[in-house]
Amino acid sequence: MEVAEKLSVLQGMSSVEKAHLRELTTLFLHEKRFGGVQGLQLTDAMCLIIATQACLPALSLGMGCLSGWIDIIVYPGAFRISRDEMDMAGVVHHQERALVGESWSRGPLILSWEDVERDSLGEQPDRNVVIHEIAHKLDMLNGPADGFPPLHYHMSIKEWSSALSAAYESLVQRVEHHHRICINPYAATSPAEFFAVISEYFFCAHEVLHVHFAAVYRQLELYYRQNPLLRSHPDSN
Ligand SMILES: [Zn+2]
Repeated sequence: MEVAEKLSVLQGMSSVEKAHLRELTTLFLHEKRFGGVQGLQLTDAMCLIIATQACLPALSLGMGCLSGWIDIIVYPGAFRISRDEMDMAGVVHHQERALVGESWSRGPLILSWEDVERDSLGEQPDRNVVIHEIAHKLDMLNGPADGFPPLHYHMSIKEWSSALSAAYESLVQRVEHHHRICINPYAATSPAEFFAVISEYFFCAHEVLHVHFAAVYRQLELYYRQNPLLRSHPDSN
């Protein structure tokens, strides 16, 4: 487990949290099937790094939220996809893109190892492709990814919607007007990408999210049932 202990995203976690994360990770490694493609040889350490980060968002949600799929496909680097997609008007467009991660509702989680490795070292502290794709998986537990995962019974749908919509709309406006923005502009692509990107910030760059989008941070704190801010300020615990 030593490799996983060094992950930047785990810094500041209590020993109780780390022990619980280790349990989830062990289960995850049992339940999922890892496969390297394009010649990538996956080692136990690589699978552990992926599994640990995949389980972090589920720490207080339980393994149930990560069930319904088993395959994790890992490419050596960014991978190209080529497919036809239909737009809102029913017109089919041919798409060719390079991706670093992708997740399907009941299908595989697909990752670029080059990016997973870079994130694990904390080279870009606000990026984490594994957490990003797991956020999409959680979002798809109640239908197509739309930035609206199944909320807990005590959470207010109204408060979630107003906090996230207001932040998303203001981000889209700022991007459209070429104003400076404080988070990855990819978040302005769609409500689904917004949720995935703010989830990355919640776990990896929580102070940025808390300072700029406090109401969003609060909703994610209620949803993930974790408060990563306490990990950077353990005294306020
Ligand atoms: Zn995404």
